Amino acid sequence: MNENLSPNAEPINRLVQELNKLPGIGPKSAQRLAYYLLRAPEENAGLLADAIMSVKREITLCSICFNVTDSNPCRICRSDERDRTKVCIVEQPQDILALEHTRIYKGLYHVLHGAISPTEGVGTEDIRIKELLERLEGSPVDEVILATNTNLEGEQTALYLHRLISPMGIKVTRLARGLPFGTELEYADDVTLTRALEGRQEL
Ligand SMILES: [Zn+2]
Repeated sequence: MNENLSPNAEPINRLVQELNKLPGIGPKSAQRLAYYLLRAPEENAGLLADAIMSVKREITLCSICFNVTDSNPCRICRSDERDRTKVCIVEQPQDILALEHTRIYKGLYHVLHGAISPTEGVGTEDIRIKELLERLEGSPVDEVILATNTNLEGEQTALYLHRLISPMGIKVTRLARGLPFGTELEYADDVTLTRALEGRQEL
């Protein structure tokens, strides 16, 4: 084969490889993005590189709710305007964005950073359950809303948490069934999420 027809130069290959590691970016998209960046003004490429590095440097996890934040505790945990008797349990920080977008929930959150999944080797001690129980102990919380995803892992996690939390004398609710099975909260639309929140039912 003619050497000149061989694929990309090494630095482009490296960029393609790195982009290809991102979720939802296949080899074709990675290649397209790499060539886009190659053509983009150096300043834009610099801004992108800088934005990536500053999330890594400046973002940490809130020590109370484990949301991503640039100040600890996070804005929601610090706010005087939130209802401290309610805690909504989500799998990922992005789920908070989706729920906040509906503007109907005014309580606090707790991010598990995953869901129990025996098939993927994620056990109860691998997500932030211990921290949740410690947080609820002696707190003014009277309702825990389980907003884990509606897939198998999310349901398993919700049932497990229900078993642990209801003996504490706290009402445990689950988002209503308006969310189709398999829904990742992050991708649910506002109307569906609002309905699911408003129609939440005690487990
Ligand atoms: Zn927080």
